Amino acid sequence: MVVLCVLGGTPTSSAAKDTTEANAPLVIKVGVYDNYPKVFEDASGHYRGIFPDILSAISAKEGWKLQYIPGTWTQCLNRLESGEIDVMVDVAYSQERSKQFTFSDESTFINWGVVYTRSGLNVEELPDLQGLRVAVMKGSIHTSSNQGIKSILGRFNIKPSRYLEVDSYKEVFSLLDTEQADAGVVNRIFGAVFAKDYNVQKTPIIFNPRQLQFAFPPHGPHTPMLKAIIDKDLRALKKDRDSIYYQALDRYLTMGALAFAPEGTEDGETNKVILTDEERDWIRKHSVIRYAVDPEFVPYEFLGPDGSYDGIASDYVKLLSKRLGLNFERVPDLTWTEAMTMIKQGKIDVLPCVGKTEERQSFLHFSRPYSQFHRVIITRIDTPFITGLEDIADLRVAVQGNSSNAGFLESHTDIKPIFFATLKQALLSVSDGNTDAMVGNLAASAYWIRKMNLTNLKIAAPAGQDQRNLYFAVRADWPELVRIINKGLLSITSEEEQRIMQRWVGVEFKTGIERGVVRRYIINASIIALIVLAVILFWNFKLKKDLEKRREAEARLRYSNELKNVLSEVSTKFVNLPSRDINEELHQALQNIACVLHSQEAYLYKEVSENQLSCVYHWKEGAERTDICNFLEPVATHAPWRIREIKDGTVFNVPNVLKMDEALVASRDFLLERGVGSFVEVPLYYAYMVVGLLGVASQEDEREWNSEEISFLKLIGQVFTNALMRKKYEDALQRKTFELQQANDQLKDLDRLKSMFIASMSHELRTPLNSIIGFTGVMLQGMTGELNPTQKDQLSRVHQASRHLHELITDVIDISKIESGRIDVHVQSFPLREVIDEAVTTVKSQIKKKGLDLQLNMPEDLAMHTDRKRVLQCLINFLSNAVKYSEHGEVVIDVTSTQQTVEIAVSDTGIGIDEKDFPRLFEAFERFDSHLKVKAGGTGLGLYLTRKLVTELLCGEVFVKSELNRGSTFGMRIPMDLDNAKERQETRPETEA
Ligand code: ADP
Repeated sequence: MVVLCVLGGTPTSSAAKDTTEANAPLVIKVGVYDNYPKVFEDASGHYRGIFPDILSAISAKEGWKLQYIPGTWTQCLNRLESGEIDVMVDVAYSQERSKQFTFSDESTFINWGVVYTRSGLNVEELPDLQGLRVAVMKGSIHTSSNQGIKSILGRFNIKPSRYLEVDSYKEVFSLLDTEQADAGVVNRIFGAVFAKDYNVQKTPIIFNPRQLQFAFPPHGPHTPMLKAIIDKDLRALKKDRDSIYYQALDRYLTMGALAFAPEGTEDGETNKVILTDEERDWIRKHSVIRYAVDPEFVPYEFLGPDGSYDGIASDYVKLLSKRLGLNFERVPDLTWTEAMTMIKQGKIDVLPCVGKTEERQSFLHFSRPYSQFHRVIITRIDTPFITGLEDIADLRVAVQGNSSNAGFLESHTDIKPIFFATLKQALLSVSDGNTDAMVGNLAASAYWIRKMNLTNLKIAAPAGQDQRNLYFAVRADWPELVRIINKGLLSITSEEEQRIMQRWVGVEFKTGIERGVVRRYIINASIIALIVLAVILFWNFKLKKDLEKRREAEARLRYSNELKNVLSEVSTKFVNLPSRDINEELHQALQNIACVLHSQEAYLYKEVSENQLSCVYHWKEGAERTDICNFLEPVATHAPWRIREIKDGTVFNVPNVLKMDEALVASRDFLLERGVGSFVEVPLYYAYMVVGLLGVASQEDEREWNSEEISFLKLIGQVFTNALMRKKYEDALQRKTFELQQANDQLKDLDRLKSMFIASMSHELRTPLNSIIGFTGVMLQGMTGELNPTQKDQLSRVHQASRHLHELITDVIDISKIESGRIDVHVQSFPLREVIDEAVTTVKSQIKKKGLDLQLNMPEDLAMHTDRKRVLQCLINFLSNAVKYSEHGEVVIDVTSTQQTVEIAVSDTGIGIDEKDFPRLFEAFERFDSHLKVKAGGTGLGLYLTRKLVTELLCGEVFVKSELNRGSTFGMRIPMDLDNAKERQETRPETEA
């Protein structure tokens, strides 16, 4: 791109050839007059401005030679009419003029009139000009044409108090500035450029837009060609935002007061920049500006063999001193370091050529940049390839002390450079091997490398990607000078800049080469092309390297993620896996492991005995599924070494079976036979003991098993071991549980047999007992004849003992029936009151006998649906105990109910029960000591049976409260509807059970 542009600048246009006689360029006569900034003569007598700059660019492209014919505006128009000139610049198009001249179609730009006022006046629209003093320029198109201010105001009948007619727009502004006029008309370009220099105010009023164009003599010999080419080139220039067209507009229109003036000013020829009064004053007061230079900063600034100040910056210093009237004076014999110190101390004022660093900004003011350099890394030729600053971080890096490169390294990198007083010394240190790399600017370094013939150095890489700027730096307490220098720098045109660059860049090639422009271009272009080429090649190489690195890293990451996924999948699966599924899942998991490791086999061995491993699980690509594989024997016989080593916790990492130890030839052949090229095996631990191994085998015979894969296998192995061990213990537990279950069932059967035996035996016992009770009763009643007192006494003892035995047997039968599960439940509906009355009847005589009170508290109409007989039996038991164990006081029956349960409590004021006996209550054959124990008689089975009836038949619960010598309350809480309760019990969720 760069190369093409430079070469494209040579005059080879076809249009030029067509119109050129022989080789001489076509001469175009251009009419010019003074109208800054559109066209004017600069200090060196050249015609400049928007129109000439554009025309120069076109003529350079077309190979014309421009000959400027200056004159007044009217002279110019006359010459155009007569054909004395070929083209005239800056002609506002009007229909009238178009009859006289030929105009270019493409307008250069549009200009219009603008109204300004003196400061403090508020003018917004045309009527506001009524009664004001309006300054205008005589003969201007914005003053007296039919679109000029006078005719516009006339048309609207707006009457200024007077028109002040002057000769130039500058005078219009002067009148406003000095308040001799209230409003004034100038063109917009003049206003934009000069308004800042006067105390004036812009208004929104604009008028009379005019296209400014090139004009040609209507019958001129070159007119058709010139019009066509200027139109075409102008169109192209307008399309390209970077073209000379926009550069010219920017330069002249947006820089405003910074641009330089057309005419000589009061200060004379030497000061061509518009400076404010204060600036001029400042320059007058500072008659000498001391500056210091870097003697070796070729080609930017350096000292020539005769000690003269040379280089790009020296030309800028010369230009500025001429334009600004500054008196620059060089302080000689300073090194760069000394110069820096002195400017800090205010002993010198300016450094004309420095780079910006953060540190320097703290004590220097920087001008706008005026030149650029590239920062590069220089190494010896034999230094391995480097790509940038990051590659030299660990090397010894040389840099010129106090240079912007040093500042850059210190503030933007971690590099700790070694400082040298001059660039030459820094380069020599790399060349001599005292340092490894140097950071410096491309042009200067390249110059000194060639100059000192340091053939072992190379430009290795760019240090950062942007180009760096060079500036004038001014001591901290002189900000005014920066502003002045900036104005000076802005006045330097791009051609001037180019000339300076051409003079100094490639300085070392000058000797022996003719100063032909084309040749120099070619040389410069070649250098640039080489650099561009080198940079492109270098970037391609670096990009390729980076891409490879990135691909590798991505692949590694992907693989690592796959391993992690398999690990997490397997761990999740195995952690709660039911033992019965372990076989199946292990087989699947082994397949997954083999696949993710790109292997064809995965297997799990467990140690069987001292010298034997048995393969328990095995997956092989394409093989029939076998959980227990069949090569137990070869492993056991041919590889005892493997068992030993695995038991020591060694990981077998065999990247190539072919290369296995000769001593293991049997194992090797066995593995080769099976198609194993490489394998890896890790030990499995349980409770710090090796219990087996997990292995993976691949057909590849150069397979490196890396540390990530090995730790993956170890972790997976741990998951397997845990699962297998769990399975082992669960299996054992299951066996034991089964045995216990069996024992338990046997016991239950025995228990049932016992209960059945007792039940049937008791029944057999009851039959004869009934006869004894019956007949003794008959005899006692004297039905079989009178008994003497002794007979009566003895017979009544027999009778009583028999009854007791009967009660006992009845209870035992009930208990046995319940325990053997042979008791039947008869559910029926009945009013509870009925049952209570019945129970009370059975104890009525006893109550009466003992003189006890009986109380019943219960709700009316309480209906029950349960086993009536059993409720009655329980109630009688409680009531008879209450009566039995009370000698006075009362027996109270309390019945309460909720929606589903009924609570029946029987309280007495009897002997009560000691707290220590509570745990034995409701147990079989438990009777507690008291003075009533013998007298009351009893079996010790009543409460035991009651509890069983309530809990096991009636689905309820019993309760007791008692206090020794105060009384007791025994009771039961039973469901009102037994069927309902049972149903509920069945559907109740297990967790609540
Ligand atoms: P027993 O046939 O001996 O009454 P129970 O099983 O009915 O057998 O009662 C067991 C023991 O509980 C009784 O011997 C007695 O010591 C005690 N007991 C039962 N009910 C009462 C009560 N209401 N007051 C005091 N003690 C009682």
